Amino acid sequence: MNATLTIPKETETAEIQRIFEAQQANQFNIANTTSSQRIAKLKKLHQLVLKYRSQIKEALFNDYRKHPSEVDLTEIYPITSEIKHAKSHVHRWMRKQRVKTPLAMMGSSSRIKYEPKGVVLIISPWNFPFNLSFGPLVSAIAAGNAIILKPSEHTPNASALMKEMLAEIFDESEIAVIEGGVQTSTDLLKLPFNHIFFTGAPSIGKIVMGAAAKHLTSVTLELGGKSPTIIDETANVNDAARRVAWGKYVNNGQVCIAPDYVFVHESKKQAFIDKVKEYIQSFYSEDASKETSYARIVNNHHFKRVKGYIDDAVAKGANIEAGGKFDNDQDFIAPTVMTNVPKESTLMTEEIFGPVMPVYGFTDLNEVIKEVNSREKPLALYIYSKNKKNINHIIANTRAGGTCINHNAVHFFNTNLPFGGSNNSGIGKGHGFYGFEAFSNPRGILKQHIPNALEKLLPPYNNTKQKLIDLTIKYF
Ligand code: NAD
Repeated sequence: MNATLTIPKETETAEIQRIFEAQQANQFNIANTTSSQRIAKLKKLHQLVLKYRSQIKEALFNDYRKHPSEVDLTEIYPITSEIKHAKSHVHRWMRKQRVKTPLAMMGSSSRIKYEPKGVVLIISPWNFPFNLSFGPLVSAIAAGNAIILKPSEHTPNASALMKEMLAEIFDESEIAVIEGGVQTSTDLLKLPFNHIFFTGAPSIGKIVMGAAAKHLTSVTLELGGKSPTIIDETANVNDAARRVAWGKYVNNGQVCIAPDYVFVHESKKQAFIDKVKEYIQSFYSEDASKETSYARIVNNHHFKRVKGYIDDAVAKGANIEAGGKFDNDQDFIAPTVMTNVPKESTLMTEEIFGPVMPVYGFTDLNEVIKEVNSREKPLALYIYSKNKKNINHIIANTRAGGTCINHNAVHFFNTNLPFGGSNNSGIGKGHGFYGFEAFSNPRGILKQHIPNALEKLLPPYNNTKQKLIDLTIKYF
């Protein structure tokens, strides 16, 4: 759907090297800033985002016809709330944290200093270009790093605007946006960054981690996968249908934490499908292609990918309960609900990342848990239920990066919660303190004040010293 700009050109290797070296030379100036100076930077960023709010909306409309209100809700608000949270907490996060001293080490004191990692790389995806670039950026600024941001080439209007915006308030030796695609990303990954924060597909996450291993660079990988939804027989079907329909079709289903597929208790299955259809109509009217609230698939490659999944499932016997309409010229796929989707169809072997909802009925909750656990650990798992026993049983017997009970996706918005996956859906966490921590090294510092009892145990060893060692092991 890119209306005005095409994929940005790759950035020259020499230019990448030049900026990286400038940041390396400048990193201690940034690192040694006070909390007030970092708060001032965050304030400037906040004002910048608000100043460019309408241009951000325009860029995202041109990139994939995202509705301006949806931009406010899912791009602007997560950034401004992340900035506000960091502004009010960064002083506390940066403060020296005293820790206790074990008795055997009496005479010393210990503290933790969160120091910046140094020069860091943020690689972001196209599905929430601003949110998923500026969110980690806020954490990296709060932690005191020099930052190179490589946004996705698939949302070129957003990418170009980010470059323009950040150049307005930051020198490139502190924060630089480097545009480009796979080649630029590959060149960047050859450099010895001190941390890489990558958001994207698990397959690319493996490439990033492989490249990082060459320099033993630490990584945060915010990946994706298939996030299941379980709706039991006690759930409020109307609420579940409304929330799942929103979570599935917002941003045209191109959401890492979208409810990928749904298990609903057989006794509620038809009621759930009927309600989802009602909500599709009330959100996006009879014909979603004419409703401006409904975004588009980002480009024709992804349109063909998602359409291919639907066609494959239908060919293998799946039913279309709602939607199933396409417009190739507009990269439009109507909000779609499907049943009888074979587990071996691509719709169920791949992350959908589009407006398609496979729905399965169930009678035995343990069978659902078995099915969920037979797959990679998801980024999110959603439970709709009024039954505490069922909720606790599901949480205790599954694994996921995060969970919402009686909702979906909204855990992303709580800056007090760690956000991220587990294994195939991600490594490390972001948001709030967890984002600050990702871009910091907690440096343990011990200061010796008076001679320590352990100094009595220095070589040469003898029987008396051995007795003292034995007592130390026994009592301390
Ligand atoms: P992607 O992995 O294709 O691209 C992400 C970034 O990696 C882009 O900037 C791209 O230029 C770069 N890249 C692509 N191929 C590369 C390669 N071979 N080597 C080096 N860099 C490369 O992901 P996408 O298509 O932009 O986004 C969709 C994926 O991201 C989905 O899997 C989704 O679940 C995931 N995602 C995760 C989160 C999260 O917070 N966990 C958020 C949004 C999206």
